[in-house]
Amino acid sequence: MQPLPAVVLLSGGLDSSTTLAIAHRKGFVAHALTVRYGQRHAAELEAARRVAAALGVADHKIVDLDLRAFGGSALTADVPVPKHRADDEIGRGIPVTYVPARNTILLSLALAWAEVLGAWDVFLGVNALDYSGYPDCRPEFIEAFERLANLGTKAGVEGHGRFAVHTPLIRMSKREILRTGLDLGVNYALTVSCYDPDETGAGCGACDACRLRLKGFAELGVADPARYRTSVGTGR
Ligand code: ZN
Repeated sequence: MQPLPAVVLLSGGLDSSTTLAIAHRKGFVAHALTVRYGQRHAAELEAARRVAAALGVADHKIVDLDLRAFGGSALTADVPVPKHRADDEIGRGIPVTYVPARNTILLSLALAWAEVLGAWDVFLGVNALDYSGYPDCRPEFIEAFERLANLGTKAGVEGHGRFAVHTPLIRMSKREILRTGLDLGVNYALTVSCYDPDETGAGCGACDACRLRLKGFAELGVADPARYRTSVGTGR
């Protein structure tokens, strides 16, 4: 059987890089999509380029859609990124790093490209376990978006197939995600997870994304190969 094309949303972080490797393992030909939405630093985009090159993709598009036009988030406006939140604080409530409707926007772009490619499959590296409490990372949201995809596209309505949004990480812990990625040959040194990296991509070690990442590596008993601005130990 001919391998099927899939669109994989690739931010350059740990989760989306693992998701790309999983899409390959499932036999899809990956078309990687990165959106420059106004992230604090270009380091994330560089990471996406490196990961796409290292894992090998059919095509990698970087689309500009600057959400700083709206702001409303610590990632897209001049709002400080929360640091040093306790583990039980992370995942309680919706923090200011939430980017309004980000995954709806990203999935819509991926869907548009999928329709052009004749692909029925979109991969998104959301996680609803070790995560920051974002509403658009939950399974209910993904199921609703799948319904939308099949209702709102020519391909979906003509019924030659059905769009599926694959979220292989959604119920995995960070530790499980890392174990899976390492087994699939993901080089996590290439990835940038931090919400507030410096221009070289070095992580702060203290934001929710850094803390969840460091906790995952610590639980696995593996050193995080990412660069951090200060010595952060295990992040605990
Ligand atoms: Zn950080």
